[in-house]
Amino acid sequence: MKIHHLNCGTMKISKILSAGRIPDHAVCHCLLIETRQGLVLIDSGIGTRDMVDPSRLGPTHYLLPVREDMDETALNQVLSLGYKTDDVRHIILTHLDLDHTGGIPDFPHAAIHVLLDEYRAAHNPSGFKEKNRYRKVHLAAAKSWETYEERPGDEWFGFPCIKGLTGLPEEIILVPLRGHTKGHCGVAVASGNGWLLHAGDAYYSARDMAPDPHCQLPFKLFEYLVHMDHSRAVLLKKRLWNLAYRSGAPVRVFCTHDPGEFEWFRLHAQA
Ligand SMILES: [Zn+2]
Repeated sequence: MKIHHLNCGTMKISKILSAGRIPDHAVCHCLLIETRQGLVLIDSGIGTRDMVDPSRLGPTHYLLPVREDMDETALNQVLSLGYKTDDVRHIILTHLDLDHTGGIPDFPHAAIHVLLDEYRAAHNPSGFKEKNRYRKVHLAAAKSWETYEERPGDEWFGFPCIKGLTGLPEEIILVPLRGHTKGHCGVAVASGNGWLLHAGDAYYSARDMAPDPHCQLPFKLFEYLVHMDHSRAVLLKKRLWNLAYRSGAPVRVFCTHDPGEFEWFRLHAQA
């Protein structure tokens, strides 16, 4: 399987929010995987229609405005690699937040794979946080949904996991990482060089996964604002750090939004 690391959307972070301590932008680190079953997209970033009309993203767009760059959309990057829209057969989503689902309308033939808990939360949102994070304009465009729950006994390096995803190669599995949202999950991919774990929004900065981990204050505050279960998410972050640094497991972990981390993977981790 050939794996491409794509940034499918850049969000600007104002000086007020960053306090000069963190990068002035966030990326949407997605994977495009060439498989025997067609192209598989892991997370889909900001869509072409959102670039034209950012109001589709709701009030969050005013907090973290999207850089209007059509070339960054998953659709345009798929086309520039020489593929057609229909070649994307599957989209696996770490969760259904608006900055991960924008590509759904751009790939009308793709099946959408997600944890059942996340599907339920997004289609029946409750409370302020859920009502603002999920966008009907994205979700209603999905052709078909494949939803999943853990089965007892399935494990991946000590984490519960879901194998045997419908229509997908066995090298791709789901690793539930609930906390950021009710059905947030990581996506593990066996590459030619060990495993990659796309950890979605389980953390925001590579500093959290450094040998001497540290969560910077702006991210700490942001996590309080956006996590559905903050204490669970903080615990998970420690487990991910252990997986990356202590376990000796052949796993490289990355998150969605850190620009430096994305750049490293883009340059070094093609496999
Ligand atoms: Zn996100």
